[in-house]
Amino acid sequence: MKPDTMLVHAGRDPGRFDGAVNIPVVRTSTVISSSLEEWNTRGTAGQSAMSYGRLGTSTTHYFEKAIAAIEGGAGTCVLPSGLSANIWGMLPFLEAGDHVLIPDNIYGPVRRFCNNRLGRMGIDFTYYDPLLGGAIRSVLRPNTKVVYVEGPGSLTFEMPDIPALAEEAHKIGAKVVMDNTWATPLYYRAFEHGVDVSVQSATKYIVGHSDVLLGTVTTTEELLPIVRACRQDFGQITSPDDVYLAQRGLRTLSVRLKQHWQTGLQLAEWLAAQPEVMRVLHPAMPSDPGYAIWKRDYLGASGLFTFLLKPISKAKQAAFIEGLAYFGIGASWGGFESLIMPIHPETGRTATHWDTNCTGFRIHAGLEAVDDLIGDLDAGFGAMRLAAD
Ligand SMILES: *Cc1c(COP(=O)(O)O)cnc(C)c1O
Repeated sequence: MKPDTMLVHAGRDPGRFDGAVNIPVVRTSTVISSSLEEWNTRGTAGQSAMSYGRLGTSTTHYFEKAIAAIEGGAGTCVLPSGLSANIWGMLPFLEAGDHVLIPDNIYGPVRRFCNNRLGRMGIDFTYYDPLLGGAIRSVLRPNTKVVYVEGPGSLTFEMPDIPALAEEAHKIGAKVVMDNTWATPLYYRAFEHGVDVSVQSATKYIVGHSDVLLGTVTTTEELLPIVRACRQDFGQITSPDDVYLAQRGLRTLSVRLKQHWQTGLQLAEWLAAQPEVMRVLHPAMPSDPGYAIWKRDYLGASGLFTFLLKPISKAKQAAFIEGLAYFGIGASWGGFESLIMPIHPETGRTATHWDTNCTGFRIHAGLEAVDDLIGDLDAGFGAMRLAAD
């Protein structure tokens, strides 16, 4: 089955739900048994049978099956946000005395989690240069249990060489946990490149409509019971209504993503030609340092990228960003609407240096017509040129 077909058919079961095309929202805390025998055996019926609402209902179980199939993993755990999936992707493999490696360009709230929480659990952590590749061996320790990766970094788009990192990590038995939100499972086949745990902020492209927060953790046959047990032990549960919207978004992921990719690249090329633009950070552009790895390992790109201007005044920044009609000033991404936000990638970095001698903006290319978006950016640049220094 090709991925597009799988997106339509995975995790659906009209025969079981009165012919309904989509898995319905099943809301329940209690699951009633019809006999004593059923009651006694409910908990042993396997993951997809309902036993208690906190362990997920059919809505959750079918969505998890769909994501696992699309990721090419053995199973998936859905979690209430992308951040919780980031955390529950690594925590099941860590205990006091262990060490974890975190890329220096990590999604900010994960850095916050590491800084605030890991130490008090007795877990040691080191930030590493995401471009180390096989040289990661120089920062691995005998007690390193997790090498975390983000491909590419979601502000600065450094492209890690994940197969090279994974080869070294696996030599000492460490697990490779990847935040694969940018490419989605459609454009990065994480498990084919040495990843052990693939994490999605489903809030972004899977939900696709900017109205739900959700995360997924997908892993291998061997590691799945460990992740499931950890989620259960901490009482993590996700609303079936939210999961319903995510499975609805999932069906159209492929067509949306193609458009985000194409529009994003066209905007990136237009921006690269503007005299004020120093650099565009987009791994699918041949001029980007990450292009070789993107070309080798990725099947596509999404609509998220950054561009850097020579330093400009606050007034010029405001004139530019407020002069845009179609780009909302907002965090998050992956929805149908275009977004822009100023970035400060230097914040918190400890292992790498970020040159602050520039002004950076991150763009999410939405599903509007690309000509309208280019016209809008052009108007923004016009307003910036007229504004005071
Ligand atoms: C947004 C984001 C997350 C967190 O997702 P939430 O659903 O907002 O918690 C994790 N990783 C990356 C790369 C993100 O952009």
